[in-house]
Amino acid sequence: MTDKKHTYAPSLLIGQEKGFAPSVHKPVSMLLIYPNTYYVGMSNLGFQAIYYHANQHPSIFCDRGFVYKSRPVSGILSGISLRSFDIAAFSASFELDYFNIVSALRESGLNPDRTQRKDTDPLILIGGIAPTINPLPLAGIADAIVIGDGEMVLNDLLNACIQGKTRSGRDVLDSLSVLSGVFVPETHNRTNPVMRLQALDLDLFPAQTHVFTAETEFSGRFLIEVGRGCGRKCRFCAADYIYPRPRWRSAESIISAISWNRQFTDKVGMLGVAVMNHPDIDDIIRQVQSWNMDISISSLRVEAIKESVLDMITASGQRSVTLAPETGSDRLRKTINKRFTNDRLLSLVQTLQDVGVQELKLYFMAGLPGETDADIEAIISLCKDISARNIRLKVNVNPFIPKPHTPFEREPMMPQKELKRVFSYLQSEFRAIPRSSFSHASIREAYTEALICRADENMGNEILLNASVRVPKELAGLAPDAPLPWKIVHIPLS
Ligand code: SF4
Repeated sequence: MTDKKHTYAPSLLIGQEKGFAPSVHKPVSMLLIYPNTYYVGMSNLGFQAIYYHANQHPSIFCDRGFVYKSRPVSGILSGISLRSFDIAAFSASFELDYFNIVSALRESGLNPDRTQRKDTDPLILIGGIAPTINPLPLAGIADAIVIGDGEMVLNDLLNACIQGKTRSGRDVLDSLSVLSGVFVPETHNRTNPVMRLQALDLDLFPAQTHVFTAETEFSGRFLIEVGRGCGRKCRFCAADYIYPRPRWRSAESIISAISWNRQFTDKVGMLGVAVMNHPDIDDIIRQVQSWNMDISISSLRVEAIKESVLDMITASGQRSVTLAPETGSDRLRKTINKRFTNDRLLSLVQTLQDVGVQELKLYFMAGLPGETDADIEAIISLCKDISARNIRLKVNVNPFIPKPHTPFEREPMMPQKELKRVFSYLQSEFRAIPRSSFSHASIREAYTEALICRADENMGNEILLNASVRVPKELAGLAPDAPLPWKIVHIPLS
């Protein structure tokens, strides 16, 4: 059953699950697929939310599927093959998982090229944050792509699919193409932008753990999304430019959901890109603490850490905290619009040590626009200062990727050769910093992700369907007048 080692045993995995179980006796079948393993997918709240909400539809039985190398995909509950479902929907958070979508379709006997599939094949839908940023690389694969918060259109989408079940495939696509936020590659004219959907009232679309499992990253923990969006406008951050308006689930709804799920677990994880900014975070933490539950929070803000969070760290005995300084120099941090200084960070380190924290995980980027060797030196110098305070450091440095919709969308990437030089220099310098470890993301994978982010439809087909694109050694900037494929997505200002 150790899914981490790719030994996928559905009956054993289901046997240890707790929580929501859908009714299977419904006329229309849907397979919701996470394009990665069970271990990864079951900690994804978007996946859990769509699974739960789709099963609330009176006519839909929604099963779950996961992707393993060289294996056909089938429903974990029903055992039915992907190709026998009426609808197959992929929830894609990461561009690199697109390769798993292609292999899942191929291994399951379906042509990943949508123009080659038959009307009797299942409808292939794709949604998630990655296709919301730029849906065009998937236009040769998906029958329809949901742009933005899928919950907003889920019922209408399913109704259109149900009606179309007895009609020709083309009729279904016509029905889907009139829905707001749904991009249907076969019928869309490529000139009218598709509106990005945004759920404003998160109480109506609660995203939380519905199925508990021990076989996932946040094993046995009740995960709950407390908000979406951030509003800080860090200039590299696509998530914040896609959803410029922060939205919160109400404290009553959060507390009530946590209370109800105490029957399954005494561990809670509060998720969101800006958990600490929730207007009622103090009240929520205090209430949950009064139940003696173990709380974890996905992101701590260097700028403003609240008393209640420090109390929570003390009470829970948490020893490790994750922070994202992004760069080692105040100058460069200011240019990317992160609003804190190294002095502020060092004072936070002291505060965290005072409440018992012994280890920091720090995330940086290399290759940011305007970066010089002095900024790389500044990462080392900052980490030396922190390490001198007798705290363990786990440092991770990722290549900067110019993401669509951000002010940096036209910027070049640091050449691969330069990234290798920087990483190897950092590696050797960190060997000399006591109590520290250093790691970096794969340069090749970062370049592949960047290529997909920037791809238009033809490039998407070449990368994903034809596998004919070699990962380049450099990614140049885009000219000011170069067309941007992702402008097919319309993002309202609020
Ligand atoms: S604080 Fe985090 S989530 Fe908010 S804009 Fe900056 S990087 Fe994005």
